[in-house]
Amino acid sequence: MSRDNYEVIIGLEVHAELSTKTKIFCSCPTEFGAAPNTHVCPICMAMPGTLPVLNEKVVEYAVKAGLATNCEISRDSKNDRKNYFYPDLPKAYQISQFDKPLCEHGYVEIDTDEGKKKIRLTRIHIEEDAGKLNHDDFGGGSLVDLNRAGVPLIEIVSEPDIRSSEEAENYLRKLKSILEYIEVSDCKMQEGSLRADVNVSVRKKGDTKLGTRTEMKNMNSFKSITRAIEYEVDRQIDVLEDGGIIEQETLRWDDVSGKTFPMRDKEDAQDYRYFPDPDLVAIKLSEEYIENIKKSLPELPESRKQRYLEEYKLSEKDANIITSSKYLSDLFEGAIKICNNPKAVNNWIISDISRILNETEMEPIEIPFDSKQLAKLVMLIDKGTISSSIAKKVLVEMFEHPRDPEDIIDEKGWVQISDEGAIKDVVLKVLEANPQSVADYKGGKDKALGYLVGQAMKETRGKANPQMLNKMFLEELKK
Ligand code: ADP
Ligand code: ZN
Ligand code: MG
Repeated sequence: MSRDNYEVIIGLEVHAELSTKTKIFCSCPTEFGAAPNTHVCPICMAMPGTLPVLNEKVVEYAVKAGLATNCEISRDSKNDRKNYFYPDLPKAYQISQFDKPLCEHGYVEIDTDEGKKKIRLTRIHIEEDAGKLNHDDFGGGSLVDLNRAGVPLIEIVSEPDIRSSEEAENYLRKLKSILEYIEVSDCKMQEGSLRADVNVSVRKKGDTKLGTRTEMKNMNSFKSITRAIEYEVDRQIDVLEDGGIIEQETLRWDDVSGKTFPMRDKEDAQDYRYFPDPDLVAIKLSEEYIENIKKSLPELPESRKQRYLEEYKLSEKDANIITSSKYLSDLFEGAIKICNNPKAVNNWIISDISRILNETEMEPIEIPFDSKQLAKLVMLIDKGTISSSIAKKVLVEMFEHPRDPEDIIDEKGWVQISDEGAIKDVVLKVLEANPQSVADYKGGKDKALGYLVGQAMKETRGKANPQMLNKMFLEELKK
């Protein structure tokens, strides 16, 4: 039986590290990449007798995320202890939220082939991150780094509304862009700032009951998430087709072998014995507090997109790509303010920049040049200083060794040849070397002109001004 007889059901639990300056219950910095155990204090190291104090910014950021994803905000909320033992969790419990999360009943809208679709959010709650075990070879043991312990997280839990790996990717991209726009998380997936637990099940089409799900933890790349879902769907269907049953279990996705494996760890003990944390007070939010945060929300991707369609006449597809990332969108707006050429900036972002990001698996936030430099590149073409084919090479250089486009052009001697005498020399040389094309053109084959211009471009290694070449060839051919 084929895969077409089954329906795929997916629900995501997304963890986003909040970009507050300090941790959730102490004043240690949250910055990524410090030497092990340098961002720690007695509180986040769980020394006996220490007391947590909730960082107000964490509540503010979580409420922001809730409002931006259409959630209801709880006026009355609290922190709970989730008890389990693991070496990266020195308190042997994680402070999280159980039955009174800060935000509930939201949704995120995604674009599908059949139009817009709402993915419902069950909840968003706040919690602390755990430390990190380092399994490099230290003479048989593992070492723990507590810099990450107490870094604030929001967990965003979706309803099982997602129906394919493409929808999962769309949903995650949309969520990521919203969090970037409201500036509550840098969402750097390679640094683990945004990671997803992916729950997958399948059922026969027409069934109303959900199938048993498996869960793949801590996935942090779009590519692996897509591959893992595809693999897991096929595996589950194979099991069911062979008359087997799916075990509810936690799996580990292995990128190298492209397979999932059962995982034995803390998740095996499912009884977390939640109870309210007695060291923390209840979280009560006033209408005014929530209203003020609502007022402070910036323009969200959907509204920016509408603006791009109307103001700059971008196509729906292009506007979608650019607004999918705050960084691309800021790059776009910043550049057009300077060079006043939305069409050109749009083209650069959609084609060459997107292609390079794709090829290098870079995130927009990692683009090493700013909107001013992109604007300069566009203006250099507009002014005729460089041709667009040279500009493509300049852009590659801007990615590899970031500096101003002018400096690159100077250093490389890439300035466009716009000198009439020089252009004429090339034209005459090419005409002489290609008598057949000249005859073809004179015999009515207009295409021959394109060939001749191409040859002249080759001769000048792309540096000749194409408009001038065209004009000069036409003049000479008419003689
Ligand atoms: P837990 O927190 O123990 O993992 P939850 O009931 O909170 O369990 O569910 C976690 C996630 O699993 C949610 O995103 C939910 O949408 C998803 N989910 C629940 N049941 C299924 C299912 N049968 N198939 C796919 N996803 C599911
Ligand atoms: Zn601390
Ligand atoms: Mg789960």
